[in-house]
Amino acid sequence: NQRIVLASRPRGEASVDNFRLETVPVPALQDGQVLVRQHFLSLDPYMRMRMNDAKNYAAPQPLNEVMIGGTVGVVAESRHPGYAAGDSVVGMGGWQQWAVFDAAQPGALRKVDATRIPLSAYLGAVGMPGVTAWVGLVHFIEPKEGETIVVDAASGAVGSVVGQLAKARGCRAVGIAGGADKCAYVVEELGFDACIDYKQHREPAALAAALDAAAPKGVDGLFENVGGAIFDVVLSRMNAFGRVALCGLISGYDGQSLAIHNARLLLTQRLRLQGFIVSEHMHLWPPALKELGGLVAGGQLKFRETVAPDLAAAPEAFLGLLKGRNFGKQLVKLA
Ligand code: NDP
Repeated sequence: NQRIVLASRPRGEASVDNFRLETVPVPALQDGQVLVRQHFLSLDPYMRMRMNDAKNYAAPQPLNEVMIGGTVGVVAESRHPGYAAGDSVVGMGGWQQWAVFDAAQPGALRKVDATRIPLSAYLGAVGMPGVTAWVGLVHFIEPKEGETIVVDAASGAVGSVVGQLAKARGCRAVGIAGGADKCAYVVEELGFDACIDYKQHREPAALAAALDAAAPKGVDGLFENVGGAIFDVVLSRMNAFGRVALCGLISGYDGQSLAIHNARLLLTQRLRLQGFIVSEHMHLWPPALKELGGLVAGGQLKFRETVAPDLAAAPEAFLGLLKGRNFGKQLVKLA
């Protein structure tokens, strides 16, 4: 069994030296356990925060233990009556080729139907990122028909779903993404009304002008994934009683400043801002997954994946995710 452990904690930017690839035996199964041959590993921005030894909503990733991560795979051997060899399953199997799950533990494993929806999608549009988009948009922003919704990191796993769900609810969807290719994809493939390439608008005044053109009626809902300068500019264009779903601050995960200057608008525009962690809203997963699964199976919800070829390529792919080198959901092929 090949696996990757956290070898050291980053000081400032994370690097490949923080990870170590090891080969260890596959453990023998105990009663109640299930052995899964993992097919795909999900790489997600939250992993960067777990690498620090800092107080957070979740405990730090322990050193010298297999890196945390969501996975999909197929049951190879089962000593739990609820699972049989051949079942397709989703769980937190970590950065390794084989994983043993305590299947009796609630939520440890979830069986999925890989006939109508490709297995990898359960780590993206029909998995944690898709549910994150749904919870932030539907539950916290509560979009109404005709409103303008802005999302940054718009071509990514979460952002791509936010805009498509907003369109389905009759909103104007405006994306912000890095690069002409990503912006073209967001508008032409995903069907957003507009997308701003923030790399072409480095000055806040230029980004604000581009936003005025893309969102002429102002912004009613902001799904915030990035933080820092981009968040600051969009805040300055929020309409009265606008809602901000604060989902992520990826521009600051490697320690960069997240300073904002337009905080007074929270007061003067009477905004509602809610930070949220998707795993704390388990009662919303079933309705979210029902809608997302239906849309993906029916071809109405589009998504894109970047797949690293094997486990050894995972650290580099993970660092790339923090720099925007992924295009859509970042995965690692494990089998
Ligand atoms: P993505 O697939 O969107 O990949 C990350 C993207 O972030 C990159 O492709 C890049 O896009 C963008 N990015 C990275 N650095 C910067 C930067 N300095 N400035 C601007 N953009 C940057 O990742 P996810 O969809 O998985 O996650 C999106 C956000 O949602 C993250 O902040 C993540 O932490 C958060 N999240 C929060 C959850 C919660 O429960 N609250 C659950 C899941 C995700 P580009 O090339 O366009 O810049």
